[in-house]
Amino acid sequence: MHQQGRPETMWGLGLNESEAARIQEAVGHSFELRNHPQGRALPEAIAPGEQPGTVWIPLRAWQTLPEEYRDTLREMENSQRILIQGPDQETMELEQVLEQGFLTTLHAPLSRDKVQDALFRAKEVTSLYSDIYNMTEEIILERELLKRKTDQLLFLNRFLTNATGSLDPSEILSQALEDLGLLLPVKLLQAAFWLRNPDSGKTDVELLLDGSLGRKVEERWVEFLLETTMRHEGGPIAGFQVERMRSKGQALPPDAGRSLILPLAGPQGQFGCLALLCDRDIRLAKDQVQTLKSAVRHLGLALNNARLYREVKIRADRDGLTKLHNRQTLDSRLALELKRSRRYGSQLSLLMLDLDHFKQINDTYGHAAGDMVLQEVGHLLQDSIRSCDVASRFGGEEFVLLLPHTSESDAWKLAERIRERIDKRRFRYEGQTIAVTVSIGVSSLTPGTLDQENDLLVRADQALYVAKANGRNSVATSDHCDPARTVNS
Ligand code: GH3
Ligand code: MG
Ligand code: MG
Repeated sequence: MHQQGRPETMWGLGLNESEAARIQEAVGHSFELRNHPQGRALPEAIAPGEQPGTVWIPLRAWQTLPEEYRDTLREMENSQRILIQGPDQETMELEQVLEQGFLTTLHAPLSRDKVQDALFRAKEVTSLYSDIYNMTEEIILERELLKRKTDQLLFLNRFLTNATGSLDPSEILSQALEDLGLLLPVKLLQAAFWLRNPDSGKTDVELLLDGSLGRKVEERWVEFLLETTMRHEGGPIAGFQVERMRSKGQALPPDAGRSLILPLAGPQGQFGCLALLCDRDIRLAKDQVQTLKSAVRHLGLALNNARLYREVKIRADRDGLTKLHNRQTLDSRLALELKRSRRYGSQLSLLMLDLDHFKQINDTYGHAAGDMVLQEVGHLLQDSIRSCDVASRFGGEEFVLLLPHTSESDAWKLAERIRERIDKRRFRYEGQTIAVTVSIGVSSLTPGTLDQENDLLVRADQALYVAKANGRNSVATSDHCDPARTVNS
């Protein structure tokens, strides 16, 4: 019965010597009967893997066992109990024997056949139990898997319904943040759409950012997503535009967790990417990754439709290098501010800045160093103005600041402050120290006059010319372009 290895353990509980000897003799060397004679300490309950396959108990011993110990024996699931009844004792009805938790009963005198037969049945029942146990385990596992699949289908169904429920990309993404939260813990969901201009080879980018980031964190995401775009598109970025969504994720920078970048694609191929910020130690099972991928695939199609519907042409309103507003934005803001100024009689000023001898900077330190200086000057300008002012890159090394509600003398003071800051600043690039100066022309709108939109720009340009003529690193106002009012350092 038990062919190889160590003999299988059986217990006897209160067998007398001749009973024990007879059982051992009948079952052979494949089994080892450990008898615990009556009156000795009872063996303690043990782990299922170590439980004896069979326990032999005479009725007289059973009757003296405490009820708790009988329960302990019944709870040993991997053991079959066999009751041995006296010849010289009262006997128990079979029904009662089964009720007490025995597999079967043997009547003395114990013959070889009776013992072997009982043992055989015990083994059969044990293997049947183990088959049923394994099957039940399998069924539980199957049910688990089915439940998971059902959950994923329900999730996808909900996700798809919601994704196609709107034609506004920002709304679709806000909803996706909420829905994806059912699949994995997402802290933040944002996207970049890109459009490559085949003539220039440059890419315009639209960034859809969470509305709750705050300036500093938003800047980090802009940087991160533009880099991601550049890596994917393999070319420079002409400009970008930021749209803030109503979604409220957690205001965390890209390195606050693990940023998953997933492609957004339509029938024409990839047009952008989705950035999910999750816990650093997030682990997704294979089927979850599949579900996430198919959710994002559908999201891509829904967003693509939304873009077509809106006939979105990514209109960049910012400059790719300095992140300042570009010329187009400046033009439309200038028109708006002129209108306001005329209507309310408010003051309006404009600074035109041009870096001095910038060509030399490029020639001496290289174009990349020049780019870095332009970037830093862009930061410095953004840093020097109020939130209602507009800082723009007007052309190569030229910048324009539009200053609503600002008099000419206040504009001049600001210009002077900026000139001084740039003059004192030392830019560092790959171990080199670079000094730059700037010339600035100031123009202001006199309330009540009928200036054309261009006039402010033209007069600032004239003033700039005067500032250059005065030896550069200086500020001049357009007020008659009077050299006396210019300031040299
Ligand atoms: P001035 O004081 O008269 O303004 O002299 P300048 O050398 O600054 O003027 P000029 O107009 O002759 O040259 C402008 C230089 O700015 C030439 C061009 O290479 C450089 N420039 C324009 N755009 C960029 C840019 O995006 N990156 C870099 N690195 N240089 C640029
Ligand atoms: Mg210039
Ligand atoms: Mg210049």
